[in-house]
Amino acid sequence: MSAHPYEPPETQSQHLFDRARAVTPGGVNSPVRAFGAVGGTPRFIASGEGAYMTDVDGNRYVDMVCSWGPLILGHNHPAVLEAATKALRGGASYGAPSPGEVELAEEMVARIAPLEQVRLVCSGTEATMSAIRLARGFTGRTKIVKFAGCYHGHVDSLLAAAGSGVATFALPDTPGVTGAQAGDTIVLPYNDPEAVKAAFAAHGPEIACLITEAAAGNMGIVPPEPGFNQFLADTCEAHGALFISDEVMTGFRASREGMYGIDGVVPDLMTFGKVMGGGFPAAAFGGRADVMQHLAPVGPVYQAGTLSGNPVATAAGLATLRNCTPDVYSHLDATAHQIADLTSEALAKEGVPHTVQFVGTMFSVQFRGEPVKNYEDAKQQDTKAYAEFFHTMLNHGVYLPPSAFETWFVSAAHDAAAVETIAAALPYAAQAAAAAEKS
Ligand SMILES: *Cc1c(COP(=O)(O)O)cnc(C)c1O
Repeated sequence: MSAHPYEPPETQSQHLFDRARAVTPGGVNSPVRAFGAVGGTPRFIASGEGAYMTDVDGNRYVDMVCSWGPLILGHNHPAVLEAATKALRGGASYGAPSPGEVELAEEMVARIAPLEQVRLVCSGTEATMSAIRLARGFTGRTKIVKFAGCYHGHVDSLLAAAGSGVATFALPDTPGVTGAQAGDTIVLPYNDPEAVKAAFAAHGPEIACLITEAAAGNMGIVPPEPGFNQFLADTCEAHGALFISDEVMTGFRASREGMYGIDGVVPDLMTFGKVMGGGFPAAAFGGRADVMQHLAPVGPVYQAGTLSGNPVATAAGLATLRNCTPDVYSHLDATAHQIADLTSEALAKEGVPHTVQFVGTMFSVQFRGEPVKNYEDAKQQDTKAYAEFFHTMLNHGVYLPPSAFETWFVSAAHDAAAVETIAAALPYAAQAAAAAEKS
């Protein structure tokens, strides 16, 4: 891959990327980090502090990714640093229960009413994978329903999407997922109650669960239309299927109680990750106690993990949640709106078609003139214009998500100076987007 035209030659990031590609596929440990969607060389990060990251060449950026959501308090928050360091001094892992696991579970259960019991795991993928296994074990059914454009981690049966707007059985999205794994997955268009009705009418007695992002955040932000989540919950109940609300991204982020705090829809099971680990590998699934009681060791559904409930991760997660005060959420809300408004003004001034969509404190800027309601809409974005916009922001010290399909994240540490840096970069980036050749 050649350097982006905007890049200086011979950077430390380029050298590291070359070394990385020799020993790691694509040079990265998670694909979006490779900058494939925007071109150029990924920046290798040396450190983070507050709202900023510094790369190995000494360039400083306002961080609008925040590790894809977890760093809600910013990099290196003193309380999280202290909690994690203190835990680490006591030993990295025990393989036996420890007090921090109980405290983190209690904190989560206290915040979110439908969450009666939780099981801790290490990643959002593990959380959704385990929730689906539990739903199948509990109901004795095989099929699962998901929505196109909703991402639930790299679980085999969830890496499937159907191309058309009708209820179809999915084809695998990736080699390595078998037809049988994908064939038990029904993929439907998001925000389409009729498609959900039709799928349950055709397959109701075989459907173990429906899983949805509590609010879609992995095709940019696409809010569920009013009543959609409640309709999903009601439909599942009517057919004896479990309703799984994936709050890995929205949990403790969209609001203090996540998306549940916004729409109040009660799921049977929920999944969490990102914010609840404070930047460390901690995630969870949970919900109705009678369903959770089907898990080993009390029930027959097996689920386990060597590092599950890791003391360092749970200490960091607990410190993060405890420091996410109502003031933090008001700050995130105000800052997100400020940045969204500035971005929208700059793009409008240059005539760049775009849509800003919010869910609670979360937002995204989609490069398409009309509202985005589902994945088909999201795919209509002008990704070339976004790539130009992205690189110009990067050159002016703002690190946006390296893909047009992602949420922009702010933290408690994004202050007036960080917003000022963004405001100063935007006019140049909007001009570059306007000049981009149409895709
Ligand atoms: C990030 C994410 C996941 C996967 O979490 P990992 O920790 O990356 O495995 C699952 N669901 C949603 C909604 C996510 O945003």
